[in-house]
Amino acid sequence: MTANYLCIGCPLGCRLEVDEMVDGSGLEVRGFSCKKGKEFAAQEHTDPRRSVTTTVALSGAALTRLPVKTSGTVPKGFVRGVCVALRGVRVTAPVLCGQVVLADVLGTGVDVVATREVAAG
Ligand code: SF4
Repeated sequence: MTANYLCIGCPLGCRLEVDEMVDGSGLEVRGFSCKKGKEFAAQEHTDPRRSVTTTVALSGAALTRLPVKTSGTVPKGFVRGVCVALRGVRVTAPVLCGQVVLADVLGTGVDVVATREVAAG
């Protein structure tokens, strides 16, 4: 059965089709316009991953929420769990951009880091 994906590699948005070879020798990918799209389709079909961008609680600053993101991608099935784990995180200012607020989230090997600097006060 053919799986369909929309490539998010650039604004062109190529429609990708993936079939698993009947002899188990790999994947047949169609619809891509560049190597990046072919790789995306194979990744999305076998191990879909996502970056997570959200906020965590912040103390000691005028802002009450600190924007954060994962330092890399996590398995798609972990996205909700990452968000749940971040509900229990509170950071105290000052905060540096790139500062790790939660290391190795859910054992993925990926850290969650601040995406902006926040001064105390
Ligand atoms: S396959 Fe290449 S050209 Fe097409 S959307 Fe993906 S990145 Fe863009």
